[in-house]
Amino acid sequence: MSDVQCTYCARRCRLSEGGGGYCGMYAAANGPGGPSIVERYPRRYSSLNVNHIESVPFFHFQPGSRTMVLGGAGCNLDCRYCSNAHLARSEPEPLLVYELAPERVVRLTQQHGCHNIAFAINEPSVAVPTLMDVVDCAAAAGLPVGVLTNGYLPAETARLFGQAFAFVNVSIKGWHDAFYARNTGVPSVKPVLRTLEILAEMTHVEVSTPIVQGLNDDDIPAIAGFIRDLNPLIPWHVFRLLPEYKMADAARPNVDVVNAALDGAREILAFVYFGNFVGSQWVSTRCPQCGSTAVKRINLSGCASKAVAYALTVDHRCAACGADLNISGKAVTWHSEDEGTWAMQPARSA
Ligand code: SF4
Repeated sequence: MSDVQCTYCARRCRLSEGGGGYCGMYAAANGPGGPSIVERYPRRYSSLNVNHIESVPFFHFQPGSRTMVLGGAGCNLDCRYCSNAHLARSEPEPLLVYELAPERVVRLTQQHGCHNIAFAINEPSVAVPTLMDVVDCAAAAGLPVGVLTNGYLPAETARLFGQAFAFVNVSIKGWHDAFYARNTGVPSVKPVLRTLEILAEMTHVEVSTPIVQGLNDDDIPAIAGFIRDLNPLIPWHVFRLLPEYKMADAARPNVDVVNAALDGAREILAFVYFGNFVGSQWVSTRCPQCGSTAVKRINLSGCASKAVAYALTVDHRCAACGADLNISGKAVTWHSEDEGTWAMQPARSA
């Protein structure tokens, strides 16, 4: 059988019957119409857990909601500082301990009272057919599905994500091709930027950037400018990255230094968040127009944030002045039966 080129991510690996792709998750198969791409481990997951959507992180999609977070194995990047390298760069098969039909994923989501589903532990482009089945099944149940992606995708996969997913967080890890070549195992940031351009036109997007001091903190102004040019209301999550894997000996970023570097970004973007350290003061949503707190969050530990109060209108605008906060979906509560009891102010029309 002849090889086939994988088109799910921008690596475009040649696949044979035995696999051969960088992520280890696809293989070529013979079908009636000729060779095609198949998943090696369809409908398999490494983890399912119920978490706050803020922990994924999404701060502007269904604030306060309970999310069924799915994880698989494999990745198309090889970030030197990765904190999930045990899932991203190991042989996938032993890690994928759950086999779940999409109907079962949706049923578990409903049984746990979740408001949405997010594939967020490893890269979603390495499990596209499995995720598309979940999206179809979840749509029938009225559940939105979202992903966290490194964005290293061809335009066709980016458009597929834009059609399928109700919320997407794209990680821009640095601004220069040289940074990507040196630290992530792929040669260029350009496919990532194109992915964000496509998705910003199609669905709810947020952006994440892990900052390793001395490695990419100088890129903060350029990344902020790129997001501003797309839409200054796109939320930007900046993480103080604690390097692991091949950079386990690297210094941990200084909170004050990184925070000072974000001052310029705060002047051009409405929603700049800074986290991954206990006690962060930069996880709540403040109205860019009147300055009042629209969604109050607390940092539980590391990346884990939780919404505890909100002051929003029924159409998700600032309750104090009616400004657009780029919030998609209704603010809800962890216990949906308690909806509304946690509000700083009752939701009202602008
Ligand atoms: S999804 Fe996997 S197999 Fe396909 S091109 Fe990307 S790394 Fe290669």
